[in-house]
Amino acid sequence: MSSSSTSTVSTRTPIRTTTTTTTSTSASPRTAQVVSLLGDLIRNACVNDGTPDSGQEVRNARTLVQFLAGSGAEVELVEPHPGRVSAIFTVRGTDPDAPPLSLIGHTDVVPVDEENWSFAPFAGEVVDGVVRGRGALDMLNLTAAMAVVTREVATSGTPLAGDLVFAAVADEEAGSRFGMDWITTHRPGLVPTENALTESGGLHVGSHVTVTVGEKGGAPRRLVAHGRGGHGSLPWGAANAALLAADAALRVAGHRTRPVLDARWRAFVAASPLSEAARAALLDPERLDDALPELGTSARFGHAVSHLTLSPNVLRSGSKGNVIPGRGQVDVDIRLLPGQTGDDADAAVAAALGDLAAPAGPVEVLAGPARDASVSPDHGRLYDALVGAVTARFPSSEVLPLLTSGGTDARFVRERGGVAYGFALFSDAWDVGRFRSLFHGDDEQVDVESLRLTVDALSEVVTGFLAPVGATTEAGR
Ligand SMILES: [Zn+2]
Repeated sequence: MSSSSTSTVSTRTPIRTTTTTTTSTSASPRTAQVVSLLGDLIRNACVNDGTPDSGQEVRNARTLVQFLAGSGAEVELVEPHPGRVSAIFTVRGTDPDAPPLSLIGHTDVVPVDEENWSFAPFAGEVVDGVVRGRGALDMLNLTAAMAVVTREVATSGTPLAGDLVFAAVADEEAGSRFGMDWITTHRPGLVPTENALTESGGLHVGSHVTVTVGEKGGAPRRLVAHGRGGHGSLPWGAANAALLAADAALRVAGHRTRPVLDARWRAFVAASPLSEAARAALLDPERLDDALPELGTSARFGHAVSHLTLSPNVLRSGSKGNVIPGRGQVDVDIRLLPGQTGDDADAAVAAALGDLAAPAGPVEVLAGPARDASVSPDHGRLYDALVGAVTARFPSSEVLPLLTSGGTDARFVRERGGVAYGFALFSDAWDVGRFRSLFHGDDEQVDVESLRLTVDALSEVVTGFLAPVGATTEAGR
């Protein structure tokens, strides 16, 4: 993964291609910087497979330290585990009472199935106005834009009221144990948790643009199937734990939880381009599940943000071909909506297992570490700044506050009482379904136009939000 020496040569060519492609359309110097830096971050291939020694975000930290060198921003590096480096850049404000703003960009990426890609995942090439590679959407695009805005603010000398903190953090893709979780636990204050921006917003739903205001929680459960070991030649009448585990997994996967139609769901349905009949069905708890296909590529997302979901993702049983296993295990990924708790997860699992559930049945349910959903308000100074930056670029669009189904670093901010939003701004070809299909998917890519929209909007939000009272900024007030 770390063949950075070979990529130096192959990267130059595509970058040159980019410049020619994009100057013809819209590449401002600011956008060109994002494109170039994004390519560098992709090529560093900080692949986090969940093991402590993977990721090696030290490479992206070094690239960013170099990029911001001489800008005047202070930098502090933290390394909770060898190679798992986060770089925290601070541009000091002049008013100690003014609220700070944190830009939280993770620098790790998820692994690839290289044989399913139609281009090299870690070349960071730019072809026809598109930057291609692992991390182009999640979220090196935004991390690069954050770095460019931070450097601009630091070098311009424009006075800020509050501090601007750009946190380029490790390990988001495996739960942030060596990133934001560690930083907020062991170095409180290093990344201020009053106001923060991070990933996954700025997508188009009909004539609306999304801002992510919250994310689902989690309550993983382990199902342990107790059978009786025996000889594989004597299957008749055996209590085969592999089969019990498989049965439990199928029951959990097939279980339908009741949809929750909150205000965000209603707004999402209202904004989606649908027939009146489809809209009515999606707002009826009895008909919603069957109507999900009406949402097209956004159907899976729609299901996730309207239901407690159960996904049995790990099955383990047996060790030898001629031995009937006495124990099986199913790890179920359970995601909670706002207001739901571990009790809701347990109730859903019990209902799914039916007569398989202990104590009467052979399957025991063990609880894992739970986490509540987290939501920030869809109003307030930072939210309003986001709305202003979105509508300045898409004047006929309204902002749609949305939940995200996965976890992000925003939760560490919300858990400490701050507000956090998933922000970016994509060109109008990007709906939630297209974004989700490439997010962690094959052939991940982003268009240069979306990078331009993102970096310009982010710059406006940062300078507007941190402007000293009375100062005029490009964002206005
Ligand atoms: Zn991400």
